[in-house]
Amino acid sequence: MTFPEAAAVGTLAFYSDFDDFQTWKKALQTQLPALQVIHASQTERPEEIDYAMVWKPPQGIFERMTNLRLIINLGAGVDSLVGRDDLPGNIPITRITDPQMSRMMAGYVLFAVLRHARDIPFFEQAQRSGQWTYRHPRSPEEMTVAVLGLGHLGARAAHEIQRQGFRTLGWSRSLAQIDGVECSAGMETLDSVIGQADIVVLMLPLTPQTRQLFDRARLQKLRPGAAFVNVARGALVDQAALTELLQSGHIGAATLDVFEREPLPAGDALWGMPNVLITPHLASVAIPSSSARQIAANILRVSAGELPDNIVEPSRGY
Ligand code: NDP
Repeated sequence: MTFPEAAAVGTLAFYSDFDDFQTWKKALQTQLPALQVIHASQTERPEEIDYAMVWKPPQGIFERMTNLRLIINLGAGVDSLVGRDDLPGNIPITRITDPQMSRMMAGYVLFAVLRHARDIPFFEQAQRSGQWTYRHPRSPEEMTVAVLGLGHLGARAAHEIQRQGFRTLGWSRSLAQIDGVECSAGMETLDSVIGQADIVVLMLPLTPQTRQLFDRARLQKLRPGAAFVNVARGALVDQAALTELLQSGHIGAATLDVFEREPLPAGDALWGMPNVLITPHLASVAIPSSSARQIAANILRVSAGELPDNIVEPSRGY
């Protein structure tokens, strides 16, 4: 379904080094045929731009967009946008919270959890040495998985994990309610949650409160041999401490999609570690065809003088 009623909704400027401009332009104009979509680098009249849809834009991009009414973060994580000092004041910032993005993330997390729970790295190793090595599967009910961060992405992932029969713990800032998931909230409960888990999954936003939340002391509170999955942001974790704890075996294994520095530098010890699976920050991505609909709905709200949905609160960082 499109929004044909929107006759003249204005001009949107796009900027991303990671996403294809033409694909997004087509997806947006499928929803809003009257929307002008231009690339921010080809703007001759920045004062005519109403909406900016951006992912990691260059410093100063908003400076001459004097009539901007909405900034759309082209992704779910807003940490690279909200901390900047070049944001125009009093303009709502929204982000993408697309159900298809949540499904894609839940698929990745479920894969990582099942891979650890079913000892797949052990069997891959056995296959490489040509050995038929039987290891009896553990039942999911015997295992506990903790999902830290129960937002649009974490809640869906926790739901999928508990459907597999794992005892599932969830942790967030305010207390969440998810069927089949034992939820708790607040810093005072974090160590208890991670201390019970065989697999810990990080799904928190990067904010001043969560940066380096998993420092050496907290990583040492994981159960010996536990698996660690990070699909959130690398800066939540002391990566040097994580590497050492993986080398010592205190942390049994890790699936890492995000890193302190991306790309993960060549020669980093993590690359060569048999108990670590590395993927290049792609656990989930914004899908133009499905995300464009919510972006279009927000543009219509703003052009009608209303507040958009999915507003980010810069003061809390997410
Ligand atoms: P949401 O903003 O919807 O949810 C954030 C969750 O984290 C909420 O449950 C929130 O608690 C909780 N939280 C935030 N701060 C704290 C804190 N200080 N202590 C405890 N809990 C806290 O985010 P999404 O689920 O949409 O996304 C999560 C993150 O995933 C993104 O910020 C991004 O960094 C990452 N991401 C990674 C991708 C990848 O490909 N690897 C792709 C997309 C996103 P409360 O509910 O109380 O607010």
